[in-house]
Amino acid sequence: MTRGRLKFRKNPEYGMKKMKVAIILTLIIISAAVLFLYHYFHAAADIVFINGFVYTVNENRSIAEAVVVRKNKIIFVGSSENARPFITEKSIVIDLQGRMLLPGFHDSHAHVLEGGVSLNMCNLSAMKTPREYVAALKDYGEKNPSKEWVTGFGWSLEAFPGGNPHKILLDDILPDRPAAVMCGDGHSIWVNSAALREAGVTAKTPDPAGGRIERDTAGEPTGTLREGAMELVRKKAFEPSIFEAFEGLEKGIALLNSYGITSFIEARAITADSYDLLYRLVHATGNLRARVTLSLYLDPRRDDAQIGELIGKYDDDRESLLKADQVKIFLDGVTESKTAWLSDSYTGEPENFGIPIFDMDRLKKYAVRLEKAGFQLHMHAIGDRAVHEGLDLVEYIHRAGGNREGRHHLVHLYLVGKDDRSRFKRLHVTGNIQAQWACPAGFNEINRKYLGGERFAALFPFRTLRDEGALLAGGSDWPVDIVNPLEIMQTAVTRQVPGQGGNSPILGGGERLDLADMIEAYTINGAWLQRREGLTGSIETGKLADLIVIDKNLFNVKPHELASAKILLTLLGGEPVYADSWAHGFFRMDR
Ligand SMILES: [Zn+2]
Repeated sequence: MTRGRLKFRKNPEYGMKKMKVAIILTLIIISAAVLFLYHYFHAAADIVFINGFVYTVNENRSIAEAVVVRKNKIIFVGSSENARPFITEKSIVIDLQGRMLLPGFHDSHAHVLEGGVSLNMCNLSAMKTPREYVAALKDYGEKNPSKEWVTGFGWSLEAFPGGNPHKILLDDILPDRPAAVMCGDGHSIWVNSAALREAGVTAKTPDPAGGRIERDTAGEPTGTLREGAMELVRKKAFEPSIFEAFEGLEKGIALLNSYGITSFIEARAITADSYDLLYRLVHATGNLRARVTLSLYLDPRRDDAQIGELIGKYDDDRESLLKADQVKIFLDGVTESKTAWLSDSYTGEPENFGIPIFDMDRLKKYAVRLEKAGFQLHMHAIGDRAVHEGLDLVEYIHRAGGNREGRHHLVHLYLVGKDDRSRFKRLHVTGNIQAQWACPAGFNEINRKYLGGERFAALFPFRTLRDEGALLAGGSDWPVDIVNPLEIMQTAVTRQVPGQGGNSPILGGGERLDLADMIEAYTINGAWLQRREGLTGSIETGKLADLIVIDKNLFNVKPHELASAKILLTLLGGEPVYADSWAHGFFRMDR
C-alpha cells in the first residue's frame, strides 16, 4: 500500500492514466448498477395506470394520477410522469383519462354462499305483482325441467292481501311438481299443494315451535309457512347439492367482483352445514376470487361443545385468501317480526320488548373463551337493547382481561341509545352498517308502525356514530338486499330512496354521511375489520394490487346519481377478476 502510494507520487502521469481507467471502470460499474436497478425496479411493471383520479385512501387521503403494479403488488403511486420510466414493451398501460381508481371494495357483511346458490333459483325481487311472480315461476319451471323442486325467492308481503300468498296460484301452473318460494325478507315460504304433500303437511299438522302454518277457516293449509314452519320444506326444497353449492359460491363471488368487491366477510358460515368446508374446497381448487373472512356461526340451539369446535376451526392467516377468525352471534331478531330487542316496548304493546336470542350470562362465558382464542365477535344487533347488550359484552371481555382492541363489531344498528353512541369508540367496536336501509322506502313503513314516529325518525344514526368517533364499515347483507356498494353509498349520502330524485322524502337528514366516509367504510375500514389493513384497503406502495376502475370520479357525481357509476375493472392481487367491455381492450377475460 505504502509503496504504491509512493509510486503514484513519483509518477503523476502514470497516476493520471490509472485514475482515468478507474473513473471509466467506476462509470461502467455505476451504469451497470443503474441499469440493473432500473430493470429490477422497472422492467417487470405489469400494469401501469396513468392519468387517473387515484383516491388512495392512505392516511392523508392523498390523490395521485398513476399506479404501477408488478405481480400482485403496488410498486409505485404518484404522478403520470414519474410512472413512465416503469413502462416497458411488456407493460399493460392503461390511460384512465380521468377515470377513478380506488382500492377494491370490502363488503363487511354478506351471505355469499347462500346468495350465490340463490342465483340458480327464480329471482322475483324486481317484480311487484302476483301475476308477474307466477309468470316468472312458470317460465323458470319450463327452463329447468330436471330440477325436482321449482324454487324461487324475492316475493314481497305487500303483493298479497294480509301478506298471505295462496297455494292455488302455484297449483295452477305447477299442479304436480313441488314449488317453494322464499319471501324477500327470508321469514316466510310460499308453497303449492304438491310441496305440502311432499312435506306431509295437512290440516292435522300442528304449528311447529316458533312457526305458523297459515290456514283457512277449515284449518286447511293455504300455502304460506312462517318462521319455524319453513323448516317443513326448507331442507328438501332449498338445500343445494355440493355441486350446486360450489357453483353458487363461484357465481356469487363473480357477482361481487362485478361490483368492485375484492374482500368480504361471510356473515354466517354455518359449520354444521359445512359452509367453511365449501369455502376451503373452492379455495383449494384456486377458484376463490376474493379475500374472505368467515364468521363462523355460534348456534344458540347447540350446547357448549360447539365452542371447542369453533376454536378448532380458528385460522387467522391474513396472507391467505381465506381465513376464519370471526364468530357470528345473533343478539336479537328483526323489527318486522317484532323480535328485535328494544329498550322501550313495541308501540301499543307495553309488555313486548322483543326477544333476546341468547341468555347473556351464557354468552359472556362463550365470548371470553372465543376472544381468548383470537376470534373477533360479529354481532347482529338491530334493537337498541341488543346494541346496548353487545357493547356491555365487549366491556365484559375487556374486564376479564381480553384484548382491548379485539376489533369486534355490531351489525345492522337500527336503533342506538343516546348513551351508547360514544361507547363504540371507547370500546373499539366497529359499526357495521347496511346504509341502503336508511331511507323512507316502503319496507321501512313497518318500522314506523311498530316503533312509532319518534323512533322511526331516529333510525340508523350513522352520522352521529361517526361524529362520536365510531369506525364505520359498510356491508350489503346480500342476498337479503342489493349488493352494489355504489347504490348503498348513494342512500348513505342522501337518505332518500334511489331513483326518486332530490325532492323525495328523507329519513333523518341529519344522519347523512359524506361520500368520503362511505369510501373509507368500504375500503380501509373494511380492511381493518378483516385485520388486513396492512395488505389491502388503500393504494400504497407495498400493498396488494386489489384495485378498481370506476367510469367516473365519484366526487364529481351528483349524490343522487352515484348508483349510475359503473365498475370497469376489478383487480385482485394484480389479476383481473372482472372487466367490462372497456377493460377488455387491456385484458382477455376467461369469464
Ligand atoms: Zn345478514
